[in-house]
Amino acid sequence: MFSLFKSKIKPPREDWVNPKIEICETKKRGKGLFASQPINKGTVVIIWGGNYVNKKQADIAKNRGMLVMQFDDNLFSIEDRGESDAYFINHSCNPNVWMKDAFRLETMRDVKIGEELTADYILWETDENKISKWKCECGAFNCRQVITGKDYLLPELQKKV
Ligand SMILES: [Zn+2]
Repeated sequence: MFSLFKSKIKPPREDWVNPKIEICETKKRGKGLFASQPINKGTVVIIWGGNYVNKKQADIAKNRGMLVMQFDDNLFSIEDRGESDAYFINHSCNPNVWMKDAFRLETMRDVKIGEELTADYILWETDENKISKWKCECGAFNCRQVITGKDYLLPELQKKV
């Protein structure tokens, strides 16, 4: 796991999505997050809020079909699926959004009006043995096609953290 998840910042209760972002249908991947105004590099675009629990509670929530995200060895957030706009962010192997710290996502470069905001799902993959069932078709020059839990070991991803 990325060491940046070991943060002392207290997460907010609610998710927050920058008002310069709107949800639109993508051609292939369901809904996505798009810039309705230009967004400068280094802007916080999403803050993951939520209900933070320990591992035991997270396992129970997972069995109930809730969305579980891991932030640290014994820190998880649980949420009903599809409850928050923030979860519509799609994956790209060449994303324009990255983690600023444990709970905040920021733009890595300037984002134009109408451009989709994307993140690399490896940021939230905690199982090293996981191999994605879907094939990535993001079209980026560096598309990995199959996303695995070991991707964070790739030199180009290590550089980003
Ligand atoms: Zn890709």
